[in-house]
Amino acid sequence: MLRVGLTGGIGAGKSTVSALLADLGAVLVDADVLAREVVARGTDGLAAVVAEFGPQVLTAAGDLDRPALGRIVFGDARRRAALNAIVHPRVAQRRAELAAAAPADAVVVEDVPLLVETGAAPGYPLVVVVDAGAHERLRRLVEDRGMDPDDARARLAAQATDEQRAAAADVLLPNPRRTDGAADPLPGLVERLWHERLVPFEAGLRAGRPGPVPAGVPGAADADRVRARVERALGAPVQLAAPTGWPLRVQAVADEVSAGDVTGALHAVGYVPAGQDAFAGADPGCAVRLDLVRAARVGGPA
Ligand code: ADP
Repeated sequence: MLRVGLTGGIGAGKSTVSALLADLGAVLVDADVLAREVVARGTDGLAAVVAEFGPQVLTAAGDLDRPALGRIVFGDARRRAALNAIVHPRVAQRRAELAAAAPADAVVVEDVPLLVETGAAPGYPLVVVVDAGAHERLRRLVEDRGMDPDDARARLAAQATDEQRAAAADVLLPNPRRTDGAADPLPGLVERLWHERLVPFEAGLRAGRPGPVPAGVPGAADADRVRARVERALGAPVQLAAPTGWPLRVQAVADEVSAGDVTGALHAVGYVPAGQDAFAGADPGCAVRLDLVRAARVGGPA
């Protein structure tokens, strides 16, 4: 099983890409749907929201009154944090349950609009970003969805910039404006992503097989993403050799690692064991070799 984080600015085309991936066989998990589910009528999530914000956040029918709740938390970071503390752990738990229930060979695609904003990107083995450019996204929201232009601009301004999202992307799928008559390249791009990267990545991860070593030289952005992912998984700082070619070589001091189950934590972000205290990435698009080194114990027991 491989988890893929799919994100993009509002109006970029996440739903469009999700639908294409589902057609190819991906299992979809939609964060927006989960965020509504965990505070649906009768849930302990809704009870917690009422306990925190009072019965004025309920409609007459007993459902969550989103606009009323929105008015309370909008512009009040402390109350927004209180709401997030109720919603986020429940969404995370539902997501883990859905992933656990997926078939062993599933590619689970999680559509998470605020993946970059919440700092969750390094927790995924692979992050796919759909990119349409802020100008085109604004046009889609206003012309296609009929959103008020000022509201649309405010929504865009509250999200990460295109540059921030691109930096978090292992795969960037451009989805610029389709003009009538021109062939839409997006289905072809998504099909290649599926067959050339997601399916072999999943199979390699499941089989404990490192990915192939591609030609070329990794960039600084590749190194940054690998560093963030490995540091998050290990709970320790890592050393990265200056990239002169694939695989990227990463070292961590074993004694500094705080992850209890190192193999499990690394597997969750796409790495497989590759020898004594060594791991390798299963992603066919990003070869990594990770070594856990033992620190010299100065003055320690012999
Ligand atoms: P998201 O889920 O990221 O908010 P959607 O997939 O719902 O975005 O797409 C936003 C809107 O833009 C929809 O109305 C969709 O039909 C339209 N759209 C998606 N891709 C394109 C494209 N390449 N050219 C023009 N319109 C598009």
